[in-house]
Amino acid sequence: MSKKDTKKAPAQDAPPHDDCTEEKCAGCPTASTCASAKGPEVKGLPPKVKMDVKHVILVLSGKGGVGKSTVSVNLAYALSNHGYQVGLLDLDMHGPNIPKMLGIEDQKFAMMDNKIEPVRVTGKLSVVSIAFVLPDTSTPLIWRGPMKMVAIQQFLEDVNWGSLDYIVVDLPPGTGDEALTIAQLAPNVRGAVIVTTPQDVATLDARKSVKFIEKLDLPVLGIIENMSGMICPHCKEEIDLFGKGGGKKIAEELKVPYLGSIPIDIEMRRAGDEGRPFIIRRGDNPTWASVDKVMEALIREVEG
Ligand code: ADP
Repeated sequence: MSKKDTKKAPAQDAPPHDDCTEEKCAGCPTASTCASAKGPEVKGLPPKVKMDVKHVILVLSGKGGVGKSTVSVNLAYALSNHGYQVGLLDLDMHGPNIPKMLGIEDQKFAMMDNKIEPVRVTGKLSVVSIAFVLPDTSTPLIWRGPMKMVAIQQFLEDVNWGSLDYIVVDLPPGTGDEALTIAQLAPNVRGAVIVTTPQDVATLDARKSVKFIEKLDLPVLGIIENMSGMICPHCKEEIDLFGKGGGKKIAEELKVPYLGSIPIDIEMRRAGDEGRPFIIRRGDNPTWASVDKVMEALIREVEG
């Protein structure tokens, strides 16, 4: 690169963009491209879908593999155990794991009166996932953003959800199209739950999720720290594999509720692989108690 070219390079040494506004950043070389200054683009989307749901809760994470789908499944079950009518909407379109975690990965959508029938897991819990239209579990979805937006609209509008108390939405990791689209289209979005693991590389991304949700003018219902320590199955000593307390720290810093922590437990991994939500096992297992506590804290947060 010549000296002249180096001089031209714009964004690299620009200041952090935490408190950007369009006005304040008028002279900034990155103002025209800075997402923080402009705010998320949600133009061109249709108005909110009319559907009979009281509360829509988004579940997201800064990165994959932190337990977001596990939390979504257990939250949906916890709510249905409270007697609520619940829909679980899997919008992690490139990695739709919800059907596997509920043992319904062989199901396909049925049509009735020109409407899509959700897969009904119990009388109180229905599920919609792109996995129900893919030919098999190893087929990747290769779609651009606009196609996903159309699918999300159909998942709200053209599904025979019936009358629901809650829809729990499992979003892909990060701050992309799916979250913007659902926030724009779904009625009664009450806010988002952010799942993180304790280590710095995860909490760094969880901070971005918090700020993203705030930029959408939605409340952060709380942060959950998953994979927070583990009890060694051999010596029963606690091992802080990924550390502990990172989720609570960012919740305090960013002044959002902290909903609690869930340890690493081999039974939780097994439950996911075997398609049986961990929360329905009950019992005196300390991990079960912490999952229950987190879910109850979240329900209290939503119910007010
Ligand atoms: P994400 O949706 O964030 O990608 P998943 O919910 O799919 O993450 O979880 C990733 C893997 O970790 C799954 O195999 C899941 O069963 C497992 N898992 C999630 N939480 C725990 C936990 N607390 N203890 C043990 N395994 C867990």
